[in-house]
Amino acid sequence: MKTIGILGGGQLGSMLSDALQKLGCKVIFYAPEPFSPSFLRTPFFYQACWLDYEKLSSFFSECDIITYEFENVPTELLTKLQQQTGKKIFPSIEILKTTQNRILEKNFLLQHNYPTCQFISIENYDNLIKVTDNFPFPYIIKTAAGGYDGKGQWIINSSNELNQFIKSLTKENFVPLILEEKLSLLQEASCIVARNKQGSSVCFPIFDNIHVNNILHQTTLPSSLPTAVQEKIKMLALQAAQDLDVVGLLTTEFFITKKPSHLDKQKNIEDLYIYINEFAPRPHNSGHITQKSCNFSQFDALARVLLNYPLHSPQLLPGNYCMTNLLGETWLAQDFNNNKTLNLAAWKNFPEVIDITLYGKIEPTSKRKMGHFVTYSNDQKTSILVADTFKEQLS
Ligand code: ADP
Ligand code: MG
Repeated sequence: MKTIGILGGGQLGSMLSDALQKLGCKVIFYAPEPFSPSFLRTPFFYQACWLDYEKLSSFFSECDIITYEFENVPTELLTKLQQQTGKKIFPSIEILKTTQNRILEKNFLLQHNYPTCQFISIENYDNLIKVTDNFPFPYIIKTAAGGYDGKGQWIINSSNELNQFIKSLTKENFVPLILEEKLSLLQEASCIVARNKQGSSVCFPIFDNIHVNNILHQTTLPSSLPTAVQEKIKMLALQAAQDLDVVGLLTTEFFITKKPSHLDKQKNIEDLYIYINEFAPRPHNSGHITQKSCNFSQFDALARVLLNYPLHSPQLLPGNYCMTNLLGETWLAQDFNNNKTLNLAAWKNFPEVIDITLYGKIEPTSKRKMGHFVTYSNDQKTSILVADTFKEQLS
């Protein structure tokens, strides 16, 4: 029996462990947070901080293969332990380093000629004033490391807002930043590629993503983008997985616009422009939809790659699907009871809701991802509208 170690204890890890256990694996988690939802899935876990050498080395010694469900893991100790124990991390630590830092990630995109928005790296405090002088509004400033679900991002529309932002920083609290042109988005999309040790790749269908307040709200399938645009997105996602030499999953997030980015000379496809936003070398929130809409899920694909099992091309099942995230707000909005449980009885009136997954997180806080559900219908408008109504009735 193979033992797979998963760094991180969130919902992505929980769902990955289900897929691995179906294939007969033992799964061990390592995560710093007490009550990590993944700890409910298996009796084998380490609750310890990322820099605890003793605990991390004992975790390594117990595992055959290690993966991660979360990017913000410090890599120094991982590198040292990988060398000491010979236990491999998939996708590689090099990929983790590139994708956990927005500056390295954007430089990778530039070096390999991938289309991305205009950006400037701000590596020190003094640069901040110089750099922001010439860049046209609106733009987004993001922390180079550590951000997720829209955290660590500031939208700057005017010099007033810029001055306020600069005032909030000091030389002492400064962390490296990236400034990105704020594109006027027609749509967002993502593409998940699974690539195995032999270098062959399969690609899930393109998902359309709707974000609210910079957090994923809904993912829909099949994509409404023109076929030629979907083909180009797939080509870019497969190429990126190859250029990064991913063994595991690579999710690529895309921006679709009607207007080109500043200085961009690429030709449009069907009047649309395609830009890569960022990568995630792991299962992705948008990919939850694959659990109900494809013949196997993103988690099944990763489990098969990790175990070196043959991988087939995922097939989209007939129909229209919509995955909707349940954030802490759905719990906090309840006015009829205060025991912080959902009104799941509402489900009986919504046959289009085909599944709900709750992550087992104890404290529903604002913007925290607590669960998701999937709706199915013969037409896409219905699957989205029903999802919005159902979500309201859960509170
Ligand atoms: P996270 O790591 O939090 O997912 P992202 O860089 O993907 O960070 O940003 C989250 C969301 O914010 C994006 O999905 C998009 O909706 C919006 N966003 C981020 N960068 C840009 C940009 N340069 N132009 C327009 N919208 C953006
Ligand atoms: Mg993102």
